[in-house]
Amino acid sequence: MDANLKYRKILKRHNLSATQFRIRVLKEIDIVGRPISRNELLDKLGIKTDRVTLYRNLQILCEFNIIENVDPEGSGFFVLKYGKKAHDLHHLHFECTECKKLYCIHEIVSDISKIPAGFNVDSFYLLAKGTCEACSTNN
Ligand SMILES: [Zn+2]
Ligand SMILES: [Zn+2]
Repeated sequence: MDANLKYRKILKRHNLSATQFRIRVLKEIDIVGRPISRNELLDKLGIKTDRVTLYRNLQILCEFNIIENVDPEGSGFFVLKYGKKAHDLHHLHFECTECKKLYCIHEIVSDISKIPAGFNVDSFYLLAKGTCEACSTNN
């Protein structure tokens, strides 16, 4: 089976043309399995990737609800927004200040249903910063 079929289908379903570039972007976001930054995506896509093209496509994919920026106030980290891997924001994110990666810490969750009556949440984001396991062991 065509390994890229699932990405092609997602793009088609949203009436977006399934360009090779978009397929590669979705695939990289999918396989990394955690929110990914623009810079890490650039690294994975290779040296010849045009920064502006990547940024524009990330924006389009966000507008069409295929991916989501889970760090809209910061430098931006992207996750897929469909299927069983859909990402919710009730868990803690850990940003490593060394390798600049963002990790999903599903062990720490917050129950926003417990917010007092009269408070309407527009956005919700739990963030911790520090050094990740890999970076701590390397030092
Ligand atoms: Zn790290
Ligand atoms: Zn997460």
